[in-house]
Amino acid sequence: MKDTLQRFLFENLAVRGEIVHLDATWQAILERHSYPEPVQRVLGELMAAVSLLMATLKFKGQLIAQIQGDGPVKLLVVEGSSDKTLRAMASCKDEQFDDESMQGLFGDARLVITLEPEQGERYQGIVALSGENLAAALTDYLLRSEQLDTDLWLVADEKQCAGLLIQKLPETEKTKSNIIDLESAGESRDLDGWNRIQQLSSTIKDEELLGLSADEIIHRLYHEEDVRLFESELISFRCSCSRERVESMLRSLGADEVQNIIEEHSSIDVACEFCNHNYRFDAVDTEQLFTSNPPHSAPPTEQ
Ligand SMILES: [Zn+2]
Repeated sequence: MKDTLQRFLFENLAVRGEIVHLDATWQAILERHSYPEPVQRVLGELMAAVSLLMATLKFKGQLIAQIQGDGPVKLLVVEGSSDKTLRAMASCKDEQFDDESMQGLFGDARLVITLEPEQGERYQGIVALSGENLAAALTDYLLRSEQLDTDLWLVADEKQCAGLLIQKLPETEKTKSNIIDLESAGESRDLDGWNRIQQLSSTIKDEELLGLSADEIIHRLYHEEDVRLFESELISFRCSCSRERVESMLRSLGADEVQNIIEEHSSIDVACEFCNHNYRFDAVDTEQLFTSNPPHSAPPTEQ
C-alpha cells in the first residue's frame, strides 16, 4: 500500500476525518535505527499522529511532536514538514522494560507540539502525557489548544503504521470556509451526527486500520453516511540534515574547541540522530570553517 493521507468530510454534519497509512516512510525510519519493540510502537503511533495533524497546517514549515520524560525512554521526536515529509528518532536509556505501559516507558512525561512556520511566530503547546495511550494525550492536547473535539486511533507494527482521526468542526466554520457550506446544504442539522460518527469510528480494529486502504476503511465504517473524499496526498521520508547545518553547528563551538578535538582525534564525526548519516571533518575541512572566505563561497574573480 502507498503512503497516503486521505482527508474526508461528512456532508451536512460538520465533522471531518482523516486516514493515514505509512509503509515505506516507516520502513525508512526502522532501517536506520533498531528500537526496542515497545518504543518502536509508540514512535510509529507518533508518526501516524503527526501525519494527521500536518494535514490541516495552513503554513509552510514544520510540525514537531516530542514526548519528553524521565523514564527509561527519554525522548521521542517526529518532525513533519508542510511538503509532506517526515523524519523521526527515539532516545532510550534501556533496551529492556519491566513495564511497557506509557508510564513505565516514559515516566513522568509531557507531549510537546511545536508549530514552526518558515515565516511568522513559533507556537508551542504542552500537555502532560497522562492517559493510557498516545491517542488519549493528543485528544487532550487538541481540546486544550484548539478547543476542538477530536477522536483518534493510532496503531503501528514492525511494517507499517496508521491512524484515523475524526474532528467536530466549529460552528463558525460554515461562514468562513468554502469547503463546508452548511447553509447551502439546505437540510436540517443532524445534531446527533458527531456521536454517531464517534460510535462508528470506534468499531475500527487495529488490523483493519493497518491492513485496509483508506477507501476500504471509509466504506467499512461509514457506508451509510454521505462522505465527501478529498484528493489523497502522498507522504514520504526525508531528513532535513545537511553538511551546511553541521558546519554552522561546529562554527558555533568556536575555533579553539574544534581545534582541540582535531588534535585529539584527527577528525570530527557528526552523525545525524534522525537518519544516521555521518558527516566527517578533517583538519583541512575544519580550518576552512573558520577562514573568512571559504574557497567554495568566494566571490567570482574577473579574468
Ligand atoms: Zn539526517
